[in-house]
Amino acid sequence: MQDRVYKQVVILSGKGGTGKTTLAAVLSSLLRNKVIVDCDVDAANLHIALNPVVNKSFEFSGSKKAEIDTENCSKCGLCESLCRFDAIGAFSVNPAACEGCGLCFRACPSDAVIFQDVQTGKYYESTLSDGTKLYYAKLNPGEGNSGKLVTEIKKLAVKNILDDIQWMIVDGPPGIGCPVNASIASADFAIIITEPTVTGIHDLKRIITLLNKFRIKYGIVVNKYDINGKETGAITAYAFEENIPILGLIPFNNKFKDDFISGISFNNVVSGIREPIDGIKTKMMQCLSIPFN
Ligand code: SF4
Ligand code: SF4
Repeated sequence: MQDRVYKQVVILSGKGGTGKTTLAAVLSSLLRNKVIVDCDVDAANLHIALNPVVNKSFEFSGSKKAEIDTENCSKCGLCESLCRFDAIGAFSVNPAACEGCGLCFRACPSDAVIFQDVQTGKYYESTLSDGTKLYYAKLNPGEGNSGKLVTEIKKLAVKNILDDIQWMIVDGPPGIGCPVNASIASADFAIIITEPTVTGIHDLKRIITLLNKFRIKYGIVVNKYDINGKETGAITAYAFEENIPILGLIPFNNKFKDDFISGISFNNVVSGIREPIDGIKTKMMQCLSIPFN
């Protein structure tokens, strides 16, 4: 197998709303020859900030659902009595309630249950104004199997990668669940972004346990470090004790959030936080032993 040239960096956080997507967007804008993959498939929003043109879209099927073929149904009622999700009534399946367990399909004595793949989301290949490819996905509300969808978009991004690509920046899902496992697969480095709160440090430690299991190198970014000096101190002390690099501290910036909400262009919005994130880029390259550019 040929060694890949590019480095894959995944950005993680314990919960949503910690600045993960902003960091992914700004860091990407500071790197040359990159592709960006938004793996936060339950709440994708990088494409909203970066406003790409969609080149291709793909259907994603993350589950199967049952349907009753009324012509073959003998109305014995067995499926309704077996379905523990109460998804069957009057010899018809409510697709919103069907969990796709397949029990009715297997049990029906008349082969009257159709059990097939259904579309539960879409994923996209898109291009930013500077030619960078952005891959992202949207899972339909309430649908599961987001880990499988993350794997699909990463696979698509890797398949289409060009020889001159040096970076794959992955905006990971929040938390430590299955989609996070899928997003960190093959990563060279993880940036964990956290906020200085008691729950922030707790979430941080859970992600670190996961990354240690996968043997992935990582560093920490503290966002809004200036809103709670005590907790920022606790995070930096913990990092020092555990020999984990602090990649950077980002100050609280209320104007930034307001600008984003008002739809001001991305490049103007990020002007105030570009500098600390440039420092994070430099530290990340040090950790990866890459000369700065
Ligand atoms: S088990 Fe089959 S035959 Fe019986 S009610 Fe359900 S679909 Fe109809
Ligand atoms: S597949 Fe499972 S959840 Fe769906 S209707 Fe059949 S028994 Fe109920």
